[in-house]
Amino acid sequence: MSEKHISSAVIKRLPRYYRYLGDLLENEVVRISSKELSERMNVTASQIRQDLNNFGGFGQQGYGYNVEHLYKEIAKILGLENEHSVIIIGVGNLGQAIANYHDFKKRGFVLSGLFDVNPDIIGKVVNGVTVKHTDELAEFIKENDIDIAAITVPKEKAPKIALEVSNLGVKAIWNFAPTDLKLPDSVIVENVHLADSLMRVSYSINARNKSKKDD
Ligand code: ATP
Repeated sequence: MSEKHISSAVIKRLPRYYRYLGDLLENEVVRISSKELSERMNVTASQIRQDLNNFGGFGQQGYGYNVEHLYKEIAKILGLENEHSVIIIGVGNLGQAIANYHDFKKRGFVLSGLFDVNPDIIGKVVNGVTVKHTDELAEFIKENDIDIAAITVPKEKAPKIALEVSNLGVKAIWNFAPTDLKLPDSVIVENVHLADSLMRVSYSINARNKSKKDD
């Protein structure tokens, strides 16, 4: 695989390719042309060719793409061939919903630990994992090689806990708290700001209503 820089826009689109190809595989589709894939995904065929060319282009003229091969190659690029261990800090409504989301397991994300401070929650079993007190975090992370910490604590608590687990050697923070974290560059941060997304929905509704009025 080429070592050249891949733009973040392309990386952002890869999970979507992966998802579509997974669906095709489930439906036993062996090969697909960029035109067919583009119709299904509602992006241009040239965009697909350009994106996939970043990785040496897995297509063949006149044949299209071998679905399984492309699926596996994208999995490699996304690092999905290896399992990733995940802990969730803050086992409230959102933390529990994430812990119970089975799609992650399918993609190789293994729920390794759940942590909270609330005595009513500690000891509870969610998706087969017992919630521990955050006092046990340091030892747990040292003993288990944790790749990802999902942060689902209230926003005021998030910066401290995120820094703590980063310093303990967690590779990435998957931040659901509605706040931006300042962490060492060595730590990967992926923000999932649900309220921001909902505000974009609100904007779109608003814009549509306005354009209807102007009609
Ligand atoms: P959610 O926001 O996920 O819907 P919620 O409304 O039940 O959850 P929040 O107050 O947002 O509760 O807190 C989320 C969870 O984070 C709770 O279970 C809470 O006990 C836990 N929590 C709060 N502070 C900390 C902390 N410092 N470390 C770990 N967990 C914490």
